[in-house]
Amino acid sequence: MDLQVSFLDRLFDAGLLIETGVDGLYGRSGQFEDVIAAFERLIDKVGGADGAEAMRFPPGMNRAFFETSGYMKSFPQLAGTVHSFCGNELDHMSLLKCMEVGDEDWTKGQEATDIVLTPAACYPLYPTVARRGNLPAGGGLFDLQSYCFRHEPSKDPARQQLFRMREYVCMGTEQHVTDFRQLWMDRGVEMMKSVGLDVTIDIANDPFFGRAGKMLVNNQRDQNLKFELLIPITSVAQPTACMSFNYHQDSFGLKWGLNLEDGSVAHTACVGFGLERIALALFHTHGLDVKEWPEHVRATLWG
Ligand code: ATP
Ligand code: ZN
Ligand code: MG
Repeated sequence: MDLQVSFLDRLFDAGLLIETGVDGLYGRSGQFEDVIAAFERLIDKVGGADGAEAMRFPPGMNRAFFETSGYMKSFPQLAGTVHSFCGNELDHMSLLKCMEVGDEDWTKGQEATDIVLTPAACYPLYPTVARRGNLPAGGGLFDLQSYCFRHEPSKDPARQQLFRMREYVCMGTEQHVTDFRQLWMDRGVEMMKSVGLDVTIDIANDPFFGRAGKMLVNNQRDQNLKFELLIPITSVAQPTACMSFNYHQDSFGLKWGLNLEDGSVAHTACVGFGLERIALALFHTHGLDVKEWPEHVRATLWG
């Protein structure tokens, strides 16, 4: 715990992260961003020949799609919705009065908009691809990056509320998408080694909510649906997940009506890079001054 606070404080002191007064909500310095940009170029280099279709969505998604995704069933504790003032001038007057007096919650009158904060970079993709009709022969491969929101405030700099996820998503047969996932597990380990990071891979689960969630956790682990690539950031004993490798079976295919060329239901898998976590792992491992990083690491990142 103390260690976590001090790494966060050191990051603030070095100016790499910029305090906002909210745990898990930080600005980033130019240097921090430069590390993320360099690592993303490495991702481009490793994945570039695969011919993934790139798409970039903003960090908010269509609320109707979010509702269909079932996110509120599994992770209600993490979701963030966008609400706005939709009243008339009279409502505005009472809003301002409420804010001035300060004894009542001024946000109570805010109304839900059609936008929800994106919880994972791949969420807006499935309905977008489903709308196109059947996938072409060979399935689908997509390259995504987005800021994501999760309501999990923490003093651990590796657990932020707004952070970026780079993802590749594969749609195809079971064999095709599980091969894709294995390929990226191998690539992930190699990539992290190439920038001097210590990695382990382990089976993992998502934090499904409540008692019913326990069953989903057990099912996910029993069926090897989620793996994580772990790197020490704030603790060596409990390294942090910097990548995840998820096999959804045909659950998203069924949910969104994603079909292969022959009309059968698509299986899907996604691999996610936690970009802030990877940058933090680099700063933790090689020090806060990029100029002091090992030459081979600098060469891999900046050529
Ligand atoms: P954790 O178990 O640490 O909560 P997760 O299983 O929720 O991670 P995923 O949902 O698989 O993570 O998200 C993909 C990647 O995004 C993770 O491997 C991680 O690198 C990154 N990530 C997830 N949550 C956060 C967060 N709160 N802050 C920064 N990065 C995150
Ligand atoms: Zn995903
Ligand atoms: Mg999590």
